[in-house]
Amino acid sequence: MVSVVGKMKQGGKKPLPAQYVRPVPLAFMGALALWGVVQQWQSPEAFTLSTLAYVLGVSYLYTDYWLWMLHCFLDRVENLESKVSFVRTTAEEFQGHHATPVDVLSANHLGEIDEQVLAFSVMGLLLGAWTSAATKLIVVLISFWGGVGGANHFYGHAMTHGYDAPAFYTLGQKWGFLPTSKHHKQHHTAPFEENWNFLNGLHAVVYEPLYFATGSSYKGLAAMFYTLNPACAQILAVGTASLLA
Ligand SMILES: [Zn+2]
Ligand SMILES: [Zn+2]
Repeated sequence: MVSVVGKMKQGGKKPLPAQYVRPVPLAFMGALALWGVVQQWQSPEAFTLSTLAYVLGVSYLYTDYWLWMLHCFLDRVENLESKVSFVRTTAEEFQGHHATPVDVLSANHLGEIDEQVLAFSVMGLLLGAWTSAATKLIVVLISFWGGVGGANHFYGHAMTHGYDAPAFYTLGQKWGFLPTSKHHKQHHTAPFEENWNFLNGLHAVVYEPLYFATGSSYKGLAAMFYTLNPACAQILAVGTASLLA
């Protein structure tokens, strides 16, 4: 996926570590993508431009929502005491990043989405007998957009520290497709109460206003995190479709 070479020449600076998703999660994601492509190939329905717009639009908007919600939830201090170890350890990572943002530049930050790519792809494969080609491609693209958001976060911090980033990220930020380093820097300025987004979508017009309107409800965030994450959301979508069929 967004496997990018990090070792760019940076005039005397320490080279940036390479950013990549490991082969096992990528293999499961690839298997799901292949299933989607073959299913589409064998389907009598054509893959039209509107199908493409649907797949790209739904996957992008949903990933924007998921990354915002995940980040806002994991930044909550309540989760440092969570009984769910994945939540506790990732909350420690997210909140540790506020304390020392520059540490991100010495890690394979993109690799932190490995478990998610694996979990969402395995769930997509398990439910594959009941889902359309378009749904499979949406699940694959959720991991892809998640990778773009994660890598942009890494390169945003790199740019803040005077590194060059690949053109995809510098131009993406310049043209307004990706959150800029400046925008994210506000998130790192106390009291950290804004800009939880990793993509440019609905955070400023829907998610953050609604969150503040609920008095920054922890329970609301937790309910969304445990039911609408990309693994559970797939089960809900398949269940709902079968009820409506
Ligand atoms: Zn944060
Ligand atoms: Zn950051």
